[in-house]
Amino acid sequence: MAIATSFDAPIYKVLANNDTGAAKGHQGGFVLPKDLEDYLPLLRNMTSPQRPTVDVEITADLFDGDDFLGTADTRYQYQTWGGVRSPERRITRNLSGLLNRAQGGDILIIERGIEVDDHYRFTLIKESSPLHSKLIRSFGSNRWGVLDQQSLPAKETEVIEAVEQIESTTKQPFSLFEHDANLTETRARKVARSRAFKRVVSISYANSCAFCGGGLQHPDGRFELDASHIVSRSLKGSDDIRNGLLLCKGHHWAFDNGLIGVTDSYKLLIPHVVRSLARNVQLVQLDGREISLPKNMDEHPAAEALAWHRRNILVV
Ligand SMILES: [Zn+2]
Repeated sequence: MAIATSFDAPIYKVLANNDTGAAKGHQGGFVLPKDLEDYLPLLRNMTSPQRPTVDVEITADLFDGDDFLGTADTRYQYQTWGGVRSPERRITRNLSGLLNRAQGGDILIIERGIEVDDHYRFTLIKESSPLHSKLIRSFGSNRWGVLDQQSLPAKETEVIEAVEQIESTTKQPFSLFEHDANLTETRARKVARSRAFKRVVSISYANSCAFCGGGLQHPDGRFELDASHIVSRSLKGSDDIRNGLLLCKGHHWAFDNGLIGVTDSYKLLIPHVVRSLARNVQLVQLDGREISLPKNMDEHPAAEALAWHRRNILVV
């Protein structure tokens, strides 16, 4: 199944014969050049001699040009071959439906999900397509890289830096706003920060909605949860855990639209005008209930943020 998500700026690789099944002794999947590893999840413990292969599960929507072929549960791996061959990064497993259609010289476009960052889109651009010759001209002598230098995708290292930065903010006094953040930031940096915020808040709230304890789970492990900002980013709210709440989609919408507020003693507040609508019967049960909080007190929502939300967003 394909996932509804938006994608970051693309990277590409011109496929070699040993990526397509045409070469002898083909390993399956395609080799990912080291230069592109920054656009995939981090592989940990790569130097451990006990683990000749490290890998991470990813999913990918597969396209041949505009034709959707299906979604593959695939794997990004680093293999050392026990030292007898040069180590390589490879995306392998369940890709034959795409790669059997490919020939050496075709282009593979790779895009990473923004909200769901272990989800990718792989698009094959065959040599016969008009787009192929246009792209090849723009690549010059490069066989892989970022598709458009004016639009760089976020690097995994930027996400990790942003995670560290967000985690360190709880040691500083709380600041509700980041006034200049949106004006000076690159697109890649925004994507990195938004991924980092999601990771940090998801861990902090143990993958459960702060309001109902729920959030549906997909069999592939994903949760129906958003890292929401109490003062939203569009209103220049800060990327601080204390300005965050992990919420299921329905409660995120209700909170962002002022149908739910939170008191300073962390109790849910449903205004009468909201409760009185027949449709909102499920919210009535939440009124007055205490929210779930992170174990770490330094990460609890800031009273200042909750008060701002009640004053400016909550319907009256
Ligand atoms: Zn919920």
